[in-house]
Amino acid sequence: MIVRVFLVVILLFSVNGANANEQRIKALEFQLDNVTADNTSRLPVLLELAELYLYEAPQNAKQYALHALPLSTQLQDDYSRTRTLWLLGMASIYQGENNEAFTNLTKSISAAKSTLDPHLLSITHRSLGVYYELTLDFDNAVRFYIEAIRYAKQSNIITDLAMVYNNLGNVLISQGDFEEAESYFLRSAALFRRANNFDKEMNVMVGLGVSYLKMQKFEEARRLFETVLANEDAIYDFTYSEASVNLAHVFQALGLHDDAKEMYNHVITDTRAGAYPQALASAYLGLAKLYTNDEEYGEALSLYRQGIVEVKNKTSVESEIELYENLAKLELKLGYFQDAATTQAEYIARRNKIQPVTQAGIIKKLEGQLQAERDLIDLQETLLQREREAQHSSLFLFTSVVISLICLVLFLSLRLRQQKLMRLEQTNESLVIESETDPLTGIGNRRYLDRKLASMQGESISTAFLLIDVDHFKELNDSYGHDTGDEVLIGLANMLKSLCRKDDIVARIGGEEFVILLFNTTDDASLEFAERIRKTVEKQVFKSRSSVTVSIGVASGTMDCANYDKFYKQADIALYNAKSDGRNHVREYVTEEGLNPQIQY
Ligand code: GH3
Ligand code: MG
Ligand code: MG
Repeated sequence: MIVRVFLVVILLFSVNGANANEQRIKALEFQLDNVTADNTSRLPVLLELAELYLYEAPQNAKQYALHALPLSTQLQDDYSRTRTLWLLGMASIYQGENNEAFTNLTKSISAAKSTLDPHLLSITHRSLGVYYELTLDFDNAVRFYIEAIRYAKQSNIITDLAMVYNNLGNVLISQGDFEEAESYFLRSAALFRRANNFDKEMNVMVGLGVSYLKMQKFEEARRLFETVLANEDAIYDFTYSEASVNLAHVFQALGLHDDAKEMYNHVITDTRAGAYPQALASAYLGLAKLYTNDEEYGEALSLYRQGIVEVKNKTSVESEIELYENLAKLELKLGYFQDAATTQAEYIARRNKIQPVTQAGIIKKLEGQLQAERDLIDLQETLLQREREAQHSSLFLFTSVVISLICLVLFLSLRLRQQKLMRLEQTNESLVIESETDPLTGIGNRRYLDRKLASMQGESISTAFLLIDVDHFKELNDSYGHDTGDEVLIGLANMLKSLCRKDDIVARIGGEEFVILLFNTTDDASLEFAERIRKTVEKQVFKSRSSVTVSIGVASGTMDCANYDKFYKQADIALYNAKSDGRNHVREYVTEEGLNPQIQY
């Protein structure tokens, strides 16, 4: 119980004034030095330290959380295990380690589920939402925020709900739905006010201000940012930072260029105003654009370059990329081909390094690359045109055109090499896809299923394995012909795919047998889903004259120690029971003693 109260307090007031933090950190680290490494009394100290370091030095937070992990497992304390995994997940997010963040946050949800504590469930679901938001998968982000809202409503901590509303507001801005965002920010702010949580209320005000800025309600936005900044002593660093840069954007939009310049410079030079990397990058971009408009190109170029150095390897990869893009465009516009080529090469290398883990993230990354290539081609055409005109003017110009053209050729050969590399990567990728696709139905095959299972091996994600077999399929082949049989298989594959959610996995593993994998699910939910499949198939008429039924065997467990063979064997026993009971049934794998199979793992 003590642990639990402690946790609630910490998760709520995770960010304090910097000075108070430093003193507390010193005291805690002193305390640690005096206890042996395997002493479980270290656990709360390690966790508090990880929490204090989380935003400022996530690598330290991760180290402390890693030390806490075995202790929380040893104590079999689900509360502290949830918190440890959550901290590891958040620290990974802040260091841009997407795969690690996803694994730890998913595990923290599983641990939170064992506590049944709606507060923890709300926090962990919200954090996975944040992860999806950062990897640009906004649909999944919204899905997890909505789950978090459901739990927040059950917990009697009103700030839980207020936090999710704030997150939802931000993701809605990313999706361009500013009015909806405004309404969530207003709800969030009202709740924080009721909870007397002034600093968080001010943070929400910044989000609200950004919605107004996007809706071009500049005066309203300005009023909000100025109110937030007037309370500078009572707000978080990142609130101060975001409000500052957005006020600068408002000034720029209102044509108050001197005020905008002053404010951008404040963000760049003041440590507190530039505390939030995204805000800092945004300030460099805004100021450099102002200088570009005034044709002060030297200033603009050095701002972009300085900006890249300042925000490199921080959380905001997107803003780093934006700085690169703008720098390359300006260098090209000014005719600095060699510089542009260098910038472009660095930029492409950096973009290739980002590893989006979600479908939406990958698509977004590819779209970004495509756009960059298109822009470049446009620029090259403009340049060629300009060179041609210059050729006519004088011999001197002619010489410089020749030099420029040599640079252009160098540049183009660099592009060509990159394109060749990209084509190779694409060919490689399509070969993998081909070898993992079932040629008849177009869904994944056994190899695809093996790879998916191998990638989840060792993770404590609850998984259901559905083995689906068509009843009396041989008879159908014999009565209507093999071609009709094929059509039924294709229709069935399409139907299974349409019944599944985005993250579920469907594969045809041979003949008329299919497998579906469901993650983060409960026994009841997977049986219900299997039953829905069975009923849908039963109702469907394939190829206008043949109706079929299926039998389904369901096995479940976590990926900690399960593997394909184990799942298959258990699901096959369940399937055998479904067939023996007369077919067109769903049966779950149960051991001879009637034990819940999960306990066996
Ligand atoms: P039950 O499962 O209900 O016990 O009966 P069943 O008739 O489905 O039994 P079984 O699994 O032995 O039969 C599977 C049949 O599926 C045998 C084979 O002719 C047919 N089959 C396997 N692959 C294909 C395929 O790619 N296309 C078609 N049309 N038929 C296939
Ligand atoms: Mg069969
Ligand atoms: Mg069969």
